Amino acid sequence: MLKRLAFVILIATSATAQSADILITNATVITMAGPNIERGSVAIKDGAIIAVGPSNEIDPRYRAKTVIKAGGMAVVPGFVNTHTHVPMTLFRGIADDRDLMDWLTNYIFPAEAKNVDRDFVKWGTRLAAAEMIRSGTTTFCDMYYFESDIARETKAAGLRGVLGNTLIDFPAPDNKTWDAMIDYMRNYVREWKGDRLITPAFAPHAPFTVSTEHLKQIRSLATELGAPILIHVSETKDELRQVAEKQNGMTPAAYLDSIGFLGDDVVIAHGVWLTPDEIRTVAAKKVGVAHCPESNMMLASGVAPIVDMIRAGVELGIGTDGPAGSNNNLDMVEEMASAARLQKVMKGDPKAISARELLRLATIGGATALGLADKIGTLERGKRADLVIIDLQQAKTQPVYSVESAIVYAASGSSVVTTIVDGKILLRHGKVLTVDEPAAIAKAKEYRERVLTSLKK
Ligand SMILES: [Zn+2]
Repeated sequence: MLKRLAFVILIATSATAQSADILITNATVITMAGPNIERGSVAIKDGAIIAVGPSNEIDPRYRAKTVIKAGGMAVVPGFVNTHTHVPMTLFRGIADDRDLMDWLTNYIFPAEAKNVDRDFVKWGTRLAAAEMIRSGTTTFCDMYYFESDIARETKAAGLRGVLGNTLIDFPAPDNKTWDAMIDYMRNYVREWKGDRLITPAFAPHAPFTVSTEHLKQIRSLATELGAPILIHVSETKDELRQVAEKQNGMTPAAYLDSIGFLGDDVVIAHGVWLTPDEIRTVAAKKVGVAHCPESNMMLASGVAPIVDMIRAGVELGIGTDGPAGSNNNLDMVEEMASAARLQKVMKGDPKAISARELLRLATIGGATALGLADKIGTLERGKRADLVIIDLQQAKTQPVYSVESAIVYAASGSSVVTTIVDGKILLRHGKVLTVDEPAAIAKAKEYRERVLTSLKK
């Protein structure tokens, strides 16, 4: 009789259970939308999160094709890398420990002029995609050349991207004239706008490498086509000097504001030297800011006042910047730790910023800066299923007194064991499922020889 009753209950449960594609169960779920859930579950269907809550409530309600038992692990929203140049993985470590101008003019610009073509960005993006998937990045914001090819590779890897094609006042590897750059942009935006994973964007290089007239043209074209704008702003003191010389002593962000350039569709990278007035303007206009602490340290650019920015309500995210001489990896876990430690040193105060705050910046903060907060950045019902599972059972993260501290200060990108974007599993059981990683690594070695030879000519 008892057996029969149990059977009847089982039938009743499975009859009422809803189907899901993936159920992650028994994890510490950091939703970033409320308190953490100690033994929690996340159910995913058709690329979206359909339920988040305590495992004892969620698990009986869903029957999933794939069940991931995540005891001892943390589930967090996927990391949003708000500023990088992914194909530059192929230049990783090419010329470190140099002044910015020496690095740019004697190494990066010649190496790019001689090597960057569609094949280069294809393989560089594949290598970067494997690295990002392994370290838990689910969305990245890119500025480079041949961005339509980068978009194709990003989509094939299953990653989400806000991808800006570079516009600059000198011949670029992809387009030799300004008119060609504008034509490229029109076609690029037309091809990708509305894509599920890819947001095409304009990427004017910086206020000192693109003229006022061209910046105004980009501003109106971006509004016309409904595409965001990504730009390096206020990165170094040298930039401040150059902009001041040309623009009546103005600082870069104030100058951009004076020509009507800033808006909620603009993301500025760095903002190291933003003045208090500029911080207020950037906050009021809902301009996104990408803070890249390792790049700023590596190139000795300075320390961005992010505690002041947060207090002012700036939409702030974290970025790695490119991996050639200004980082040199795409590891967002490491970047969070660097951001926290740098602020503590600068402020002379270990309370300046917390691990929880860094997790917020690297997830929903970045999503907000990129204008994607309605889709990603938190683990909530209705959002797209972009999330990562972090193993906290390794020696380096045990014991766990605080899960946020374990992730930000003790873990690293390699603690990520599962990466999911838009409901698709990209990393599982130590294997990247959407990129041929061995082929990308082999190609990187080939490119090393080619790049070194090209620089000798
Ligand atoms: Zn950059």
